[in-house]
Amino acid sequence: MSTASAIHTYQFPTMIHFGAGARSRLLAQVKALGLQRPLVVSDRDIAQLPWFPTLIDSLADLPVTTFSGVWGNPVVSQVEAGLAAFKDHEADGIVAVGGGAPMDVAKAIALMAHHPGHLFDYEDGRPDARPVDQPIPPILAIPTTAGTGSEVGRSTVISDDATHAKKIMFDPQLLPQVVLADPELLLGLPAKITAATGMDALTHLIEAFLAKGFHPICDGIALEGLHLVAIHLKDCVTFAQRLAAGESLSEAEQAAHLTARGGMLNASMMGAIAFQKGLGVTHSCAHALSTVCDTHHGLANAMMLPAAMRFNLPAEPAKFLRMAQTVQPGATSGKAFIEWILALRQAIGIPDTLTDLGISTKATDQLVGVAMQDGCHPMNPRPVTEADFHALYQDAFAA
Ligand SMILES: [Zn+2]
Repeated sequence: MSTASAIHTYQFPTMIHFGAGARSRLLAQVKALGLQRPLVVSDRDIAQLPWFPTLIDSLADLPVTTFSGVWGNPVVSQVEAGLAAFKDHEADGIVAVGGGAPMDVAKAIALMAHHPGHLFDYEDGRPDARPVDQPIPPILAIPTTAGTGSEVGRSTVISDDATHAKKIMFDPQLLPQVVLADPELLLGLPAKITAATGMDALTHLIEAFLAKGFHPICDGIALEGLHLVAIHLKDCVTFAQRLAAGESLSEAEQAAHLTARGGMLNASMMGAIAFQKGLGVTHSCAHALSTVCDTHHGLANAMMLPAAMRFNLPAEPAKFLRMAQTVQPGATSGKAFIEWILALRQAIGIPDTLTDLGISTKATDQLVGVAMQDGCHPMNPRPVTEADFHALYQDAFAA
């Protein structure tokens, strides 16, 4: 299935090697970065997958060690354990393999490799933050989900073990130098994770396009990413469901599955590139759901997206029409875009309401409190008041 000629290389600004079999370039790219003692950072589930040992073996020319103590929402204690592994190995760089969680832990390990103190001393925007003034070891990223796009991002989000409060650390040097985006690694991703992470990518694209501010470059990337989600997300989920049901795919279907996974890998990276413009109210509501109810980030976005878009439509009718026409050529109203989101959600098995997820309306006050404090909604095209947040959650419980 893999042929080297099908791997494309592009830079924005991360060097991206995209295509089936792109992971075969790992050793050459690690050497090109000048790494002699890489630490592989992954999560405990990824490390169990059949291709993982083969990937590590491809680095056998070099002294390499693996840290796979990441699971769930990444927390400080995981970073500390990974940092100890980095120092024990006397590592000089990181190969991050997995979804958003191991990517973020890898970035946090890289940040703390040569910086003193506690990780949260470097929180973005903190008035007394310590300076990031020491070198940060290079990171090579191999994504295994299509959602956060953390592999092309400059920040890392890590939670406090006890309070679950999320802190963001940001530095341009946290941007991985090289990404090996290999859609073959996503072929076994379960339908539910495919759907939830895909909705995260979709939410990044939509919120970046709608975010306040002038950034036509991000807007263009967001619209093309949206187009890719419209073409590919449903196929990815459908193929994952069929594989889980024990069906075997024809050769043409296997090729279509690979194409769909590749489309979503690019859409995910485009979402993360576009949202340097900003995000919006959906992410503020979703961050609160993760903090208060431990809801998966992508699923939380998927649950809030229709309510948030009903809220935003009156503020940006022309932009909604452009998004509608991007996903459905010939659409004549911005409202059609919200209907498209609802239909997509249903087609990929996202529950209808927060109640369906088992969340109680009793959590609303706490959710509103956390969402108000979140840093994303100030970039939303329509200002969001406390009463608005109450109404948004009420909508998501009922919709
Ligand atoms: Zn997100």
